[in-house]
Amino acid sequence: MLGSSFITLKREALQNNIRFLKKKLGDNVRISSVVKANAYGHGIEQIVPMFEEEGINHFSVFDFGEAVRVQNSLKNNRDIMIMGWIADENIVETIKRGIEFYIFNMNRLSVVLEVASEIGIKAKIHLEVETGMNRSGLTMKELEEAISIIKENPQFFEIKGFCTHLAGAESISNHVRIQKQLKTYHKLHRILIESGITPEYRHVANSAAAFVYPKSRLDMVRIGIMQYGFWSSIETFLRYTHRERDPLQRVLGWRSQIMSIKEVKKGEFVGYGISFLAQSNMKTALIPVGYSVGYSRSLSNRGRVLINGHRCGIIGMVNMNMIIANVTELPDVKVDDDVVIIGMQGKSEIKVSAFSNISDSLNYEILTHLPNNVERVII
Ligand SMILES: *Cc1c(COP(=O)(O)O)cnc(C)c1O
Repeated sequence: MLGSSFITLKREALQNNIRFLKKKLGDNVRISSVVKANAYGHGIEQIVPMFEEEGINHFSVFDFGEAVRVQNSLKNNRDIMIMGWIADENIVETIKRGIEFYIFNMNRLSVVLEVASEIGIKAKIHLEVETGMNRSGLTMKELEEAISIIKENPQFFEIKGFCTHLAGAESISNHVRIQKQLKTYHKLHRILIESGITPEYRHVANSAAAFVYPKSRLDMVRIGIMQYGFWSSIETFLRYTHRERDPLQRVLGWRSQIMSIKEVKKGEFVGYGISFLAQSNMKTALIPVGYSVGYSRSLSNRGRVLINGHRCGIIGMVNMNMIIANVTELPDVKVDDDVVIIGMQGKSEIKVSAFSNISDSLNYEILTHLPNNVERVII
């Protein structure tokens, strides 16, 4: 191990999650595996081959750079879809590589037409429509314009999909808005069909929508967070499981080891400044993980790690490369003992959500902030 900590990826958990999703979604719904933001912090290069082995054959990313990384990580030729950003100068390469991508405004469509006609290769596009989120997508008027451009130039477009994104399917408070979006989507879809264009895949659902609104599954669902073993929100989890056992398993863990152990006398301060004063004689463990690898400074004097199966509090400030844990209650603790920052040790667990509740962020945000420069190990 070169680095001072490593991220573990549990293959069995990932297999469990994909099998669960396939079983629940059935054979008629294609799964597009969302691996944007470095596969939600897990690591594109490690995660994509495991998904491929589980039979996933469609991958969604946010930008061109991620699409190239996914393509390079695959054994075989699979479908890749860019839902967001491509610089104009990368449109050529996107089309040449056979990568699918969203048309979310008219400017994108005209650039694509220009490039596709120049190189004489069909662009594989998904028409994204605006249905009420007011983020990206073609309005009805723009869709009609787009249809006429596509019909005038059929040799340059392959219509892979017709899609939209729902504004918060993970919360019941958005129910009315979501229903309205679905209605608008179907209305716009009818306009497309009546013009004589039939998209290969209709897709609107993310993880939450696929489970909360089964009708939104259509031909394909774009599943992100659930593949990694998380529900989109507590609400979605309770709604589906009714407080029964969680069918999903966490894929990711984060581990380090004890670098050094020290006795601290009552009345001494620990670490930078005066934020922690020893109230009695203590034993502390130094752990080589700090804010440089994403262990947030907001966890100073608040975070917990697992050592020898026990929860140990972080004392003092989180440093750039190190934290100090209170191991006073662990008589047998020694240098090199395993330290769990996220994940299980014995019967104890530090959940990403516990980690995130402390620092007040969503699971999504915590995961995607996991550092790219920490080694990933598949276990
Ligand atoms: C991120 C994203 C998804 C996946 O969302 P999850 O909640 O992680 O399932 C689906 N569609 C779009 C457009 C996205 O940006």
